[in-house]
Amino acid sequence: MSKTKYVTQFCTTCGRESKMEIIGAVVGAENKVWFRCTRCHHSMMIDQVNHQKGHDNVIKINREECINYSPEKIFEVGTAIYHTDWDDMGKVKSKEKTSSGANAIWVEFEKSGIKKLIENLQLAD
Ligand SMILES: [Zn+2]
Repeated sequence: MSKTKYVTQFCTTCGRESKMEIIGAVVGAENKVWFRCTRCHHSMMIDQVNHQKGHDNVIKINREECINYSPEKIFEVGTAIYHTDWDDMGKVKSKEKTSSGANAIWVEFEKSGIKKLIENLQLAD
């Protein structure tokens, strides 16, 4: 048996911050945890939502890190690229080989969103 853990939480029954015993996670709801107030012995479910969420989608790319996009170049997944025509920066999310044998990359651009671009283009002469 592991030692009982305690946290300080606001108890709505006591109307003040109290020492709470962590009983355990709520089955089927990973973000919710049962607590029991050591003062009034009232149990309550507390949502442990990660408030950091939402920031993950923000792309932070430095212009200096970007490789200028050109269809003849080959790009790796995760590479930051800059599209000169669109004046937009993005990151390579995945790669694809089209049915015609051409190579393509899926890029998430800051302004334009997700776009498919040609890479490793073989110039016919
Ligand atoms: Zn209480």
